[in-house]
Order: sequence, then structure tokens, then C-alpha cells
Amino acid sequence: MFWADRLAEEIQQIEAAKKATKEAPLLVRDEKTLSGRVHIGSMRGVAIHGLVAEVLEQKGMPVIYKYELNDFDPFDSIPPDVDAEKFREHLGKPLYTVPSPQPGFENFAEYYGAEYVSVHQKAGFFPEYYRATELYRSGKMDPYIKTALERTADVRRILKDVSGSVKDESWLPVSVVCEQCGKIMTTRAHDYDGETIGYTCDRSPDETVPCGHSGRVSPYGGNTKLFWKIDWAAKWVAVGVHVEGGGKDHSTKGGSHDVAAHIAEEIFGYNAPFNIPYEFFLVGGKKMSSSKGRGSSAKDMSELFTPEVLRLVLLGKDINQQIDVDPQGDSVPRTYDWYDDLAEKVREGVQDDFTRLYELCQLPEKGISTEVPWQLRFSQVAFIVQMPHMSLQKEAEAVKGSPLTPSEIAALEERASYARFWLATYAPEEFRFVLQDALPAVELSDTQKKALAVLADYFAEWRSGEEVHARLHELKTEVSIQPKDLFSALYQIFLARTSGPKAGWFLSSLPREFVESRLREASV
Ligand SMILES: [Zn+2]
Repeated sequence: MFWADRLAEEIQQIEAAKKATKEAPLLVRDEKTLSGRVHIGSMRGVAIHGLVAEVLEQKGMPVIYKYELNDFDPFDSIPPDVDAEKFREHLGKPLYTVPSPQPGFENFAEYYGAEYVSVHQKAGFFPEYYRATELYRSGKMDPYIKTALERTADVRRILKDVSGSVKDESWLPVSVVCEQCGKIMTTRAHDYDGETIGYTCDRSPDETVPCGHSGRVSPYGGNTKLFWKIDWAAKWVAVGVHVEGGGKDHSTKGGSHDVAAHIAEEIFGYNAPFNIPYEFFLVGGKKMSSSKGRGSSAKDMSELFTPEVLRLVLLGKDINQQIDVDPQGDSVPRTYDWYDDLAEKVREGVQDDFTRLYELCQLPEKGISTEVPWQLRFSQVAFIVQMPHMSLQKEAEAVKGSPLTPSEIAALEERASYARFWLATYAPEEFRFVLQDALPAVELSDTQKKALAVLADYFAEWRSGEEVHARLHELKTEVSIQPKDLFSALYQIFLARTSGPKAGWFLSSLPREFVESRLREASV
């Protein structure tokens, strides 16, 4: 069974699902702290929660998908795309009080949030968004802050028992926003008198500078924030979450999910949501923490794939399997091939997990379409767009064996624009081709020359791709040449490189006279 269907069936069995109504639907939630450009890895959570909600809805379950844009966490490091000198003074402040790097956005979190949300939308996910500040500043978190403060000793015990983290007697489960410098990472809360919290602004994590202020504040209305694992548990209760997964690193025994679940149950009397632990999304084999380079952000990655193929990237692997995409390797053409293989199965009328996956890759807002367009392989499209003499549509129709439908023409043009973008940005050398106007300087053996001479005669008339392919096969025995020597000679004289696309198809796509004369010229 496809993973999303399997999860949906499990979720249907939970108590909250059985009680869900139109007025009080089952609530699925995910969140992301907006501390810079968001890594593609976070899109896996967006997509898993989004698809689970979609599938539950297909099964008739009243469900709502809420996504928190976390703008209340501290600004804890300066991203590489902003001016470090300008932003250093803001380190340690809640994100919503840090200015936007570009004009037109209310604050730092909104700036990065807008780009991230645009990727959700491209992939067809439209959760209901809310901000962390909406929870804290409206007072919605106040009852949980109050309970956590009153039961600090129990919170401390749970942290110790579940995760082995020992806090001293004066520790409180909140951090205070300093009234003088506005920073939250620099303060130490030291006592709670039942109404106010005493704090001192004297911590200096990393490059963050404290102001030295001491004071007392009410812990409510956004003046303080619960520490992460307690904050997580409190949000489950405050928002009423029933289903929420997370990266599998959070779901180890004694890990953050385990701690949050114990706090939710014991301190707030709330059952932890149905958990969906999922594997990592790697970029070129590297995890989120170490892959900060070009192509690893959600936005960068989304620019490489059409919306449907982007959904395949995010949804195609079981949640227990890693995703690994390398924009600078062959992942991009391979992913498009994967999509085309699924489409082929659907056209053949197969009904299995693969065709279910194809169906779920279609954008929900486009509705269900019965047409499954035929598409020219991405690597072929990428090759043709580099050959100025070739017509994309003509070549596609030759490969398909019949004219393209209007939706196939649209899909071809869309794919061509993605291929051009990939070639201009990340594509490795092996996918870049320049047709050589003149014969490049090459050193060919006598056997290679002999084979090229035979081929030159063969090209006295036009030949189809299949015919050329068959002829190349015969040639291997006829002139007793190693296939690798034959193909390398062909690629060298036309493309000035030793590898290339399928030779039969390639040669038949070029003007016949050009092929004949180049073969002749190289054979002497
Ligand atoms: Zn301060």
C-alpha cells in the first residue's frame, strides 16, 4: 500500500479521528522557524503533512492542515545572503523584531516566509497559515505558560527522567524578552513569584551581546517564550493538534518528541499527536545541517522541477527512505524519467502503488484529468534545446510516432524551459553539448576512419534513428571495431567530446548532407 494511504488508515483508527466533525475537524500541523532561506529538507514535512491531509479528505474525513510560520524563535545566526555587519546587532532578538533584509516585508521572518510559502504553493500545498507571535502575543499561550511555571519542578523532573538533561533549582521553563535590548537569547530567568519573573540580561551565546539589564516582567502576552520542547507540547494543546510528524532525528528515545509527549501528557493533560517520523532529504548526499550550498534551498530546488515532478521528488519515497537529489549530478533527468515511467504505467492501465503515486503527483487544484500526456525524455529535451538546428516538436513527434496533442505540446514547452534552466545553472558537463561547426582537431585510428567512411556512404540517403542504430551494430563486426572506439569517434567529430546521446537518434536528427560530409572529412 502507498505510504500515505497506509498512514491515513492508521490515523482513521485514532480516537480524535473517530470524533472529528465538520465543525471540529481533525487537525494536522507542521511548523518551520524562519531564520533564513529554508532548506529543501523542510519541504518534506510540508508535503507529508499536506498529502496525509489530502488523502484523509479523499476518504471523507473532516480535516484541517495548519502550518506555523515561526517568527518568535530567536535570530541565532546570520545567514550568508545578508550583510553580517548590519545584522549582527540583531542577534538574539525574536525574529519578528529583526528587520527584513529587503524592503517590502514587515520583518525578517516574513521576508523568508514569503519565499518559502511560494514553494508550498508551487507544489500544490495550501495549508492554513498562522504565526507563532499570534499564539504568544494574543495570550493564547498564557494558560500553558502559567501551568509550566507553576509546575516547573515536574517539568525539570521529566526533562531529567526522559532525556537525562539536568537543570538547576533556579531554572525556569521560559526565556524572557529583555525590556531594554529586546533580546531573548541573552536573558536568564531566575525566579517566579507567582505573578512576575525576575531576569538578568547577561548571557552571551555565540556572537550575541547582552545589555546587562535586570528586571521583572509578567510572563504573559509575548514577554516570554517557553523553551523548545515545552513550547512544542504547549502548542499541541493550544492549537489542538491531532497529527504531527517530524524528522526521525526528533523521534529517538529520549529525543525532543519523547520529551514533548511526556510534558504534553503529564503537565498539560493532552495526548501527544499521532507521530509521523520521517527520513532525511539529502542534497548531493549531505544532510540539512551540512548542505548550505547552491541548490539546497527549497526555492532553488523547486526551480528545477515542474510542479508535478516537484511533488514526485517530495512524495515519491516512502517516509522510511531517504530522498537524495543532486542538482549537479544526474538526479534531475533521472527524476523526470521516474515521472515518465509512472505515466507510462498509467497509460497501460496498471493500478498499483506506482499509478497511485502518479495520481497524487497531480496538483489537487487542477482537478482530476483523464489525459496522461506523453512526454519526450528530459535528457533528450535537454539535448535538443542545445542544438540550434533541431525542432523540439518535430523530434518529439518522431520519437512518439504520432502528432502531439495540445496538452503534450504545452508539457513539452514547459519541460524545455526547465531543461534550459538546469543547463544554465547546475547541469554537469556530460549533459552539455555544442554541435561543432567545423571538424574539431581529433586523432582517429585507421579502423575508426574506415568505419566512418563506411558510414559516410550509408548517409548518401536519409536514415531513421532505428536504421542508423542497426547499421552501427552491423559495423562493429564488419570493420571489426570496438563499440567504444566507434562511438567515441562519432561524438568527437560532431561534439568534440567522447560521450553523448544515443548515436542513432542523434545522427538521424542532423541534416543528412552535414552528417555525410563530416563523416567523409573525418575519414580521410
Ligand atoms: Zn538586554
